[in-house]
Amino acid sequence: MPRTLIVGGGLAGLSAAAALASAGHSVTILEARNFLGGRATSWPVSADEPELIDNCQHVLLRCCHNLLDFYQRLGVRDDIKFYPEFNFIEPGGRLSTLKRGAISFLKMRCFSPRDKIGIARAMLAIKTESRTRRDLDSITMLDWLREKRQTERAIERYWRQVLVSAVNEELHRMAAAHGFQVFRLSMMGAKDAYEMGVPNVPLRELYRESSWSRVGDVTIHHRCPAARFLTGKGRVTGVQAATETLTADHYISALPFEKIPQVLPDLAFDITPFEHSPITGIHLWFDRPITALAHATLLDRTMQWMFNKSNKSEGRYIQLVVSASRSLVEMPRADVIALALKDLTEFFPAAAEAKLERAHVVKEVRATFSALPGLESLRPPATTAFPNLFLAGDWTRSGWPATMEGAVRSGYLAAEDITGKRFLIEDAQ
Ligand SMILES: Cc1cc2nc3c(=O)[nH]c(=O)nc-3n(C[C@H](O)[C@H](O)[C@H](O)COP(=O)(O)OP(=O)(O)OC[C@H]3O[C@@H](n4cnc5c(N)ncnc54)[C@H](O)[C@@H]3O)c2cc1C
Repeated sequence: MPRTLIVGGGLAGLSAAAALASAGHSVTILEARNFLGGRATSWPVSADEPELIDNCQHVLLRCCHNLLDFYQRLGVRDDIKFYPEFNFIEPGGRLSTLKRGAISFLKMRCFSPRDKIGIARAMLAIKTESRTRRDLDSITMLDWLREKRQTERAIERYWRQVLVSAVNEELHRMAAAHGFQVFRLSMMGAKDAYEMGVPNVPLRELYRESSWSRVGDVTIHHRCPAARFLTGKGRVTGVQAATETLTADHYISALPFEKIPQVLPDLAFDITPFEHSPITGIHLWFDRPITALAHATLLDRTMQWMFNKSNKSEGRYIQLVVSASRSLVEMPRADVIALALKDLTEFFPAAAEAKLERAHVVKEVRATFSALPGLESLRPPATTAFPNLFLAGDWTRSGWPATMEGAVRSGYLAAEDITGKRFLIEDAQ
C-alpha cells in the first residue's frame, strides 16, 4: 500500500488525505495543533467557557463543488444549511432581499434605477469579457468597474459588499480576474449556484473523528508540528517532527505560505510577492434577541456581515465579520466592540435596548493571501522540483481565491498528481 505523509491538517491537507485514502493510500497527517481544520475551525471561548466558537463565520456557495464533495466524503454534507436569499440592510434598517431572478434585483430598494441599469450592464460584460479579455489579472476590479462607469453607490453597496467578503481584499487591490470568477460561477452558473451555505455546527465538528473511519486508512498525529522536510539525492527523504523522523513514499506540504521558508527551505520558494489580508470576527452575546434574520450584509458601515449564531435563531448570539479589515488590526479590542455595537444599533434598533453580556474579538491578521494583480502566475502548482513532494494550500494554484473551496481543490490536485486518478470537480463554464 503506498504511503503518503501530509504536513498540515487544514482543509487542503484533510481533503488530500480523504482523496488519497479513497484511492487506497495509507495516509498520515501531522498537525501542529490538537484539533483539525486550520483556519476553518473552532475552539472553546475560554477555559471557563467550553462553548465552541468558530475562528470566524465561514460560508460557502453551492458552486463550491469540491468542498461539498469533501463534506460528502466525511458524511457531514447535511450539516450545511443553504439559504436562497441575501439580505441587504441600510443604516436605519431598510431591508432589500436578493433572490434568484431579475425581479428580486429590480425590487431592491437599496439601489436607484441608475445603479441597477449599470450593474446589469456590467454583469453582461463579465459574461462576455471573461472569454475575451487577457488583462484581467493585471488590472484591479476597481479599474474595471470605473471603466464600466458604475455609480459610487453600486460600487459601494453591490460590488464591494459581495466581493470584499468573497475574495477578502479591497476592490482597488483585487485582481479583476478574481472578481470576475466570483460572479461568473455564482451568478451565471447553475440556477442555485449563488445560494449561501452556512454550517449548522461549529466548524471543528465537520472534521469529527467518527468521520475519518469511513474515509479509509488515515492516521492523524495531533500536536505534532513538522520542524523540517529532509531532502537528499533530489528527493524528500523524511519529515523531522519533534521527537522522530517520519518517512513515506510521497509527501504533501499543506502549510500556509509563510511557513514554507522555515519548514521547506530546500524548495527555495520565494514568498516575498505574497502578502496577507486580515479578517476580523466580532462575537457578541446579548441578553435578548436583537433580530430574527439568520444573516444580513450591512451597507455603508465598517461591519460588513451579520450572522445570527443562536440556536433556534433567537438572535442573542451575533457574529459580525469584517473582511480586508486593515482599519481594525491596530484598533484596541474595546474600541472594536464599541464600533460594532454602534454599527449594529443602526441596523437593528433592538440592540440599543439590549444588554451586551459578553464579547470576543478575533483578529486574523494572516487570514488569507492578498489577491493582488499579477500574483496568479506566481502561485505554485502541486508538483515541485522534488518528484515525491507536492504542495497544497489555499495559496497554491488551485484556480480559486483563498477560500475553503480553493484549499480543497489544492488538496485534490495534489492527490491527482500522486495517484494519476481524477478527484477534482471542474467548475461549470
Ligand atoms: C477569519 C477567516 C474567515 C474566513 N472566511 C472564509 C469564508 O467565509 N469562506 C471561505 O471559503 N473561506 C474563508 N476563509 C479562508 C479559509 O479559512 C482558508 O482559505 C482555508 O481554510 C485554508 O486552508 P488551508 O488548509 O490551505 O490552510 P490552513 O487552514 O492554514 O491549514 C494549515 C494547517 O497547517 C498546520 N500547521 C502549521 N504549521 C505546521 C507545522 N509546522 N507542522 C504541522 N502542521 C502545521 C496549521 O495548524 C493548520 O492546521 C477565512 C479565513 C479566515 C482566517
